[in-house]
Amino acid sequence: MARDTSPQCKQCRREGQKLFLKGARCLTPKCGIDRRAYPPGDHGRGRQKQSEYRLQLREKQKARRYYGVLERQFRIYYEKASRQDGVTGENLLRLLECRLDSVITRLGFAASRRQARQLVQHGHWTVNGRRVDIPSFQVKPGDVIAATAGSSAAAEVIRSATELIGQVPAWLQADHDSLAAKVLRHPDRSEISAPVEEQLIVELYSK
Ligand code: SF4
Repeated sequence: MARDTSPQCKQCRREGQKLFLKGARCLTPKCGIDRRAYPPGDHGRGRQKQSEYRLQLREKQKARRYYGVLERQFRIYYEKASRQDGVTGENLLRLLECRLDSVITRLGFAASRRQARQLVQHGHWTVNGRRVDIPSFQVKPGDVIAATAGSSAAAEVIRSATELIGQVPAWLQADHDSLAAKVLRHPDRSEISAPVEEQLIVELYSK
């Protein structure tokens, strides 16, 4: 499956803010944004033209990068969100937030989405007792997520990630001792901490 392999600090620098894509490193002075707070490339320090379109495009790119989703898949999420009842932008963020790799990151079982994605793809997680190796798998209320009893190296990675997490959002319930969790409900917009103005993305795609 295609995935975004571009350097993550460059992605943050392009968006001009910390997207916390690298786990523990993001909290250290080695953070790319702290060291070079300007966009990458030869003209990174030049004047940026501002336009409505640019703002909307950057917001979409930021959301894509934050969730580690490629353009085509992101568009599919948008189309699905626009067919759902309610506010399209919120539906979009909810779909992205309920991806299995994102949920595992929110639960504190991975230091970053990229790490969560790898753990899922390598078969280290089950949902309702069945092994799931698809990072985009949508979790739903009542789902029970658990680490498989497989490799002790993976369990070690997962346990050390739990030490980084501050607080698990209220729509999820985590047991960091047994490496298991439950999805209590879908998240409200206020519980989704993605640094994204989703309305700008809706405006971009509605053109
Ligand atoms: Fe972004 Fe983390 Fe790199 Fe800082 S260290 S630029 S927050 S990915």
